[in-house]
Amino acid sequence: MPSVRHQYARNIILEHQTRLAKSKAGLPPLLPPRENNSEPIRIGILGAGISGLYAALLIDYLGPESGITYDILEANPDRTGGRLYTHRFSDSPNDYFDAGAMRYPKIPWMKPTFALFKFLNLDGPKTLIPYHLSDLHGNNIRHFNNTSMSSARLEAADARGDFDPFATKTVGLTDTINNLVGHKIDPFKHMLTEDFQRGWEALMAVDQWSMRDWLALPVDDSQRTYPEPLIKYLEMATSSTGELSFSITTEPVNSQAPINNPGLFHCALSEMILDGMDFDYQPTPEWFTIQGGGDVISNAVIDRLTQSTRPAALKVTTTSESGVVDSEYAHVISTMPFGCLRMVDTSALEFPWELQTALRALHYDSAIKVAVKFKTRWWEKLPQPQVGGASTTDRPTRTVVYPSYGIGSEDATMIASYTWAQDALRIGAYVKGHDSASEQVLLECIKRDLADMHGIKDMSVLDHVDHKIVNWYGDEYSNDASFPTASCEYKI
Ligand SMILES: Cc1cc2nc3c(=O)[nH]c(=O)nc-3n(C[C@H](O)[C@H](O)[C@H](O)COP(=O)(O)OP(=O)(O)OC[C@H]3O[C@@H](n4cnc5c(N)ncnc54)[C@H](O)[C@@H]3O)c2cc1C
Repeated sequence: MPSVRHQYARNIILEHQTRLAKSKAGLPPLLPPRENNSEPIRIGILGAGISGLYAALLIDYLGPESGITYDILEANPDRTGGRLYTHRFSDSPNDYFDAGAMRYPKIPWMKPTFALFKFLNLDGPKTLIPYHLSDLHGNNIRHFNNTSMSSARLEAADARGDFDPFATKTVGLTDTINNLVGHKIDPFKHMLTEDFQRGWEALMAVDQWSMRDWLALPVDDSQRTYPEPLIKYLEMATSSTGELSFSITTEPVNSQAPINNPGLFHCALSEMILDGMDFDYQPTPEWFTIQGGGDVISNAVIDRLTQSTRPAALKVTTTSESGVVDSEYAHVISTMPFGCLRMVDTSALEFPWELQTALRALHYDSAIKVAVKFKTRWWEKLPQPQVGGASTTDRPTRTVVYPSYGIGSEDATMIASYTWAQDALRIGAYVKGHDSASEQVLLECIKRDLADMHGIKDMSVLDHVDHKIVNWYGDEYSNDASFPTASCEYKI
């Protein structure tokens, strides 16, 4: 059976083609059949992230007889790979972190990714290694309301019906977090898995609602409503923080009502469900990571390409240190994030208004990873060792990711803080350069959080050697580009 993401993409393409066919312009004319001696078809690929590189790989696969040549035009002078970005503190094998993509679940819609790993010979057990989504012994921590509890203790609390183990007194916290969220969204997940078309129609019938609305308003079959404090708790515990100043309207969000809540629950219900299906796929899939970092993938593709990656009828004008270059292409494949594409002058292309709206309005979530190179792998030496997985807190640090690679080794680099949405925007205010006073303040705050989360009394345990912060929202070459998330504000 085709995967949900696959069918989702097919639906979008079909709708797009139907709309094109009905429009004044109609479908673009087919290219005339090629003569053997005709000029090569030149394709310009904008962006050397994995999408651009994969497009080039596909063209190479067609072979020279296709008559297609390509240039990959990449704006970033320092590196390729885009959001496959591995920062290495040194040459030591585990002294790195993935600032972008870091884990890959073996679920149906990741098949092309795993096929790519195989094609690139990256699927051997030394390269494609297990990614621990959680610590093997249930030691990962939740630290909310100034109290730390391990996953194992939380499960026990759930089992005995103590649904507020952090004593938050949150109104409506009368069941486990999974059950409370699941009650509202699982029916869609089941339908989409069992009968995609039926599930899709059901999802589209409620596509005007955001996740927040869906929880707050009596719009599902059971007409159950969740009070605002409970919604905030669920958002904090399962994703990212939004602003508290939220007033419920009975209007769907895609009316003109302004949205001031940059947490993840303001995203479309449909997006949250599709996203949830990536992480909560049943039966639980194996997860993998690439030993050595995500850019091993993009570098392996580049090694195989037959044509160039260079800063270089569609006329593409590129400006680089060597001057202004005009190139003409029969086709251009843009793989750059919409925030970047918006900075390109595309006015001559006369994009339809809907496309322009999508380019301007599609929400890309913000994300920041703060990696710290410590002196020791202290997290694996605690009385309750953290071996892979992640811990969560309501403090600014929000999520700590313990590396699944190099377990037991000397290299002591970890993602000390991973934030999204408003949590990331706030951390972003402190990202002002490696040696800035602001980053020192941020590091001190993260260390305080780490100490409290893990019960560390002797702060020298957390002595560090170096740090690196990647703020995707502030990156010119991703331009607020973490995960595109459908927002209810606009429908594309
Ligand atoms: C923090 C984070 C965590 C993630 N985690 C995961 C994960 O665990 N698993 C997973 O599967 N996915 C994950 N993702 C998503 C994954 O990284 C992306 O989906 C994927 O890398 C996007 O590739 P792309 O080629 O489409 O875009 P990009 O990688 O963004 O590539 C676009 C390229 O365009 C270039 N560009 C920008 N402007 C111009 C211009 N004007 N001209 C030419 N080139 C330009 C950029 O420099 C870049 O190289 C994560 C992403 C982020 C940010």
